[in-house]
Amino acid sequence: MSDEKTIFKKIIDKEIPADIVFEDDLCLAFRDVNPQAPTHVLVIPKQEIPSVADLADSDAALAGHLLLVARDVAKQLELDSGFRLVVNNGPGAGQTVDHLHIHILGGRSLVWPPG
Ligand code: AMP
Repeated sequence: MSDEKTIFKKIIDKEIPADIVFEDDLCLAFRDVNPQAPTHVLVIPKQEIPSVADLADSDAALAGHLLLVARDVAKQLELDSGFRLVVNNGPGAGQTVDHLHIHILGGRSLVWPPG
């Protein structure tokens, strides 16, 4: 991992603004700056973990917590008719920020398979 802070670490450290919809000791959820759906929120751990592939077995509770926060944020934002969770892992999957994040997408119908 490079020594330079990722954009998400700067958001965690409140060095740059974000439209935060949820925060606790372990994670942060904020609106994506380039939304791909009417509701597009990112859930990130405060711990610097670059990607799913970098999760350790000892991160199991944190990984589960992120999923439950995504559930709660989807409910908070009233995505009752459906939502999608996406985690891009690595450049081949379109990951552009090397800080683990779960996309929450909703507010429109979502086709399958995704692109
Ligand atoms: P990924 O392509 O899976 O790595 O997703 C990274 C996401 O971060 C993209 O959807 C970007 O639009 C989003 N993003 C990048 N910079 C910011 C920012 N400063 N605030 C909110 N979202 C951001």
